[in-house]
Amino acid sequence: MQNNPFYKFYQKSLDERKEILFNHPTLTSKAKKQLNKGLALPESIANQMVENQIEIYGLPYGIVPELIVNGKSYIVPMVTEEPSVIAAASYASKLLNLAGGTTTIQEKREMIGEIAIVNSPLTLEEVKAKLEEQKESLFTIANNAHPSIVKRGGGIREIWVEEKSTEKEQFYIFYISLDTKEAMGANMLNTILEALVSPIEALTEGESIMAILSNLATNSVVTAKCVISPRILDTRTTKGEDVIDRIVLASEFSKADPYRATTHNKGIMNGIDSVVIATGNDWRAIEAGAHAYASLSGQYQPLTNWTKDEVGNLVGTITLPLPVGTVGGSIAIHPGAQFAHELLGHPSAVELAEIIASIGLAQNLAAVRALVTDGIQKGHMRLQAKSLGLAVGATEDELPLLMNLLAKAPHLNQETAKALLEELRE
Ligand code: NDP
Repeated sequence: MQNNPFYKFYQKSLDERKEILFNHPTLTSKAKKQLNKGLALPESIANQMVENQIEIYGLPYGIVPELIVNGKSYIVPMVTEEPSVIAAASYASKLLNLAGGTTTIQEKREMIGEIAIVNSPLTLEEVKAKLEEQKESLFTIANNAHPSIVKRGGGIREIWVEEKSTEKEQFYIFYISLDTKEAMGANMLNTILEALVSPIEALTEGESIMAILSNLATNSVVTAKCVISPRILDTRTTKGEDVIDRIVLASEFSKADPYRATTHNKGIMNGIDSVVIATGNDWRAIEAGAHAYASLSGQYQPLTNWTKDEVGNLVGTITLPLPVGTVGGSIAIHPGAQFAHELLGHPSAVELAEIIASIGLAQNLAAVRALVTDGIQKGHMRLQAKSLGLAVGATEDELPLLMNLLAKAPHLNQETAKALLEELRE
């Protein structure tokens, strides 16, 4: 254990942690330079990124020291303000690694866009027949609207039409699936959709309401899976077999109750968002897609499933759309995002989605395991004490002493922290 450079990483000072990373064999000289220079967003770039910029808002940047995905080891960057997230992901990653890590499946990686048509005099059958006749020319129009993606091996993959109605209105919705290669592809897809509006209006003899990508990225769905033997899950007080039975029960509970499923998925997104943010991706897009995907059956469902196999192992899977990119958006301009991609060894967009899904699975394992054994408050309280200490102005030297006092306090709140800090300073 002590040979592991990341052994008790969380107990090291900030300088020691950076030193360990600097000396890590997988860290490239480029990553070292980036880390040395600092990962904060320069004011001059922020000023170009948004309107009315006035300051830079910082968030903690941490790592999960090791996560094994498809047999490959990664140091995973995470950006989050929530104290327990990186600790929990790191702990559960250790459990997953002991079980050989995760394996993943990703059948395709395409973005879907849509053009909504109203007031068409044609029947759905007539529209479908015309779409079949004109498909080839629509493909050409789409690819000509963004020829560089075709040169990169991507481009339009399918167009189909569906009829959808409300009490007041009836729509023909044309769905377009685009292989966006390494980009998330929002802008390139929107460009292509706009080029298709006139030909599709002509095809339907109707009128387009809008043309826009969909964040319900059902053509970019990733599954990550783990199989964990009971002994890995033994705790001081509970046998691994019992922990597994309780995790399986917790999984069923989240399927039965959307109130639980929502919190269950929030915990998963703690991990997913942290890596999505660190890698410069659009976390609102991932959030929207994940929750919509969780609702597809008509009842909001958990994104993970935990079962027991015939020999008593815990089998966990997570399935969700993860249309993340390795180019585009703010990826090339944010030093923190550039470092994240360097640290991960420049994974492809597909590989990055697999890492992120695996972190989501690890995060969920940590949360559910804690909930069905010790409860999450035990671990959270230590971290909450730290946040309270920082909030009342404890210095770096005072913080560990104050945390010890807070650990014995009957109620953890800012008032108690303030009083104890004053006591400490007397
Ligand atoms: P960009 O508009 O930055 O486009 C990425 C560009 O990268 C491509 O157009 C392509 O240009 C270039 N590129 C270089 N190498 C590759 C490669 N290997 N594969 C693919 N493209 C490559 O980003 P996206 O189109 O990905 O859009 C993402 C941004 O859009 C995010 O910032 C997101 O927040 C935002 N957005 C999101 C929306 C949503 O989610 N609903 C809506 C609108 C915007 P070229 O080939 O010409 O070199």
